[in-house]
Amino acid sequence: MDSLLRSLRPVVRCAVSSLAGVGLALVLAVRPAVAQEAAGVQVRKPRLMLVPEATVNQTSAQQYAQLMKQAAAKGVLNRPPEAVERLRAVAARLIPQGSRFSAEAKGWRWEVNVIDANSVNAFCMPGGKIVVFTGLMNRLRLNDDELAAIVGHEIAHALLEHGRARMSQALLQSVGINFAAAYFGLSGIGASALAQAAEVAITLPYSRGHETDADLVGLELAARAGYDPRAAVEVWRKMAALGGGQPPQFLSTHPGHETRMRAIEEALPRVMPLYEAARRTRIQ
Ligand SMILES: [Zn+2]
Repeated sequence: MDSLLRSLRPVVRCAVSSLAGVGLALVLAVRPAVAQEAAGVQVRKPRLMLVPEATVNQTSAQQYAQLMKQAAAKGVLNRPPEAVERLRAVAARLIPQGSRFSAEAKGWRWEVNVIDANSVNAFCMPGGKIVVFTGLMNRLRLNDDELAAIVGHEIAHALLEHGRARMSQALLQSVGINFAAAYFGLSGIGASALAQAAEVAITLPYSRGHETDADLVGLELAARAGYDPRAAVEVWRKMAALGGGQPPQFLSTHPGHETRMRAIEEALPRVMPLYEAARRTRIQ
């Protein structure tokens, strides 16, 4: 595969990002917590958001279009048709559930595509650009509940603007600008620096905190869409088994496999009522 395809992070790799600057904590603008309801999970959006949402989404859309072009040229875009149909059906149920976490997501130009490659990989870029590799669906033998767990997790990263936060961090680091300049205007920053930051943002693993939050929000999206959120635990069991005798790299990083499954299990009681309500509605 081309370098961009090759460099995309596996969905399951969870190393702590090296970009988190020590001084950044001092200068973060305070953002309100996501509105809470009686049921559902509780998460906060990242606070470091130097790059405007429109810029992030536009840059991501360009990267995504480039990736789709590469995949199409290789004859691996949206094949086989059954996988595309299945993924789009799952995504179509998950996407409308995101409004509690992002008011903007309704206006995004969502795209859902399959790349036929053996890689165990999936992602949702800022602005709702989803890709799932057939390797993920086939090698883990995912049923729809499990596929929803993974796609929900990836959509959660986009809703919580983790890519935007990471791009902001990458931009600060890559161009070495001082914080005040970055905060009060990006006019002096060229398109190439932004593109570079976007590349960093999609190729580096998310931080541990972002992974945990995406797990929680993913559970809720699946539950609200009528997919059994307990499937997330099975997904992680399958991921662990995939490595055979040699554990996959993600298992040796954070959050640890056991910690992650425990956190998911602890959150289940908050989302099971949503799942049961959604199922009742779907059956009627
Ligand atoms: Zn993730």
